[in-house]
Amino acid sequence: MELKDKVAAVTGGSRGIGRAICVELGKLGARVVVNYAGNEAAARETARLVVEAGGPEPVVMGFDVSDGAAVDAAFDAIKAQLGGCHILVNNAGISKDGLLLRFKDDDWNKTLQTNLYGAFACARAASKLMTKQRWGRIINISSVVGETGNAGQVAYAAAKAGMIGMTKTLAQELASRSITVNAVTPGFIETDMTAALSDDQKKVILDEVPLKSMGTVVDVAHAVAFLATDRARYVTGHVLSVNGGMYM
Ligand code: NDP
Repeated sequence: MELKDKVAAVTGGSRGIGRAICVELGKLGARVVVNYAGNEAAARETARLVVEAGGPEPVVMGFDVSDGAAVDAAFDAIKAQLGGCHILVNNAGISKDGLLLRFKDDDWNKTLQTNLYGAFACARAASKLMTKQRWGRIINISSVVGETGNAGQVAYAAAKAGMIGMTKTLAQELASRSITVNAVTPGFIETDMTAALSDDQKKVILDEVPLKSMGTVVDVAHAVAFLATDRARYVTGHVLSVNGGMYM
């Protein structure tokens, strides 16, 4: 129970990687705030799975990370209800894909606003609480494509690369308050986001993965759990790849 008495807010905790992170942090004893955008039933299922895994009863909280006022109100509510916030996992993300010449402003803006601004807004709100506690963990779920680029994902790759720059900057700004800031860059992970790919597309990607399999949401959650605990006390500004070796 390494995270007993810690409050952990996980954005996009209703599905996929976020759900597995909620379960893993709950297993370590954290009081998890399961955030979702529209899918309340899925978020409640995550909460049920946390309890089933032996974790404390989570708080389910819907808010849109791309809406700064909603984010500030949510962290005020977390402070009022749970007394503070020790761990923030910026996991909420969307992917709008397309080649540059036909890429629409609206898709660019939505992708950047959710994936990058959303992480910024949550980090700003959570760090106010963490600074007072003089302890905090911010873990940003970026992506391997933020490191390599990917044809057809101009906005997504730009947002995910931006998260890496933000991680290193905030690591420097917040270190004096014992707040660490790290990024995790998952590779090709089995979730709703990758379910849309055809078998041919999956085969092409897997050819580039030395470990020759897709990652699981639990693989990513284990990396996040490590960064959240005191086992990673001396790790900050780091980008931890969970990608089967597809980028080294
Ligand atoms: P999913 O599409 O399975 O789930 C996305 C989650 O984000 C859902 O919980 C969704 O909530 C939430 N969400 C979306 N928009 C918002 C918003 N505006 N405000 C709050 N929550 C929101 O995604 P994955 O589990 O596949 O991915 C999770 C993260 O990991 C993302 O940041 C993604 O970019 C990253 N990633 C994923 C990889 C993969 O292979 N799957 C690889 C590399 C990185 P709701 O259920 O309510 O819609």
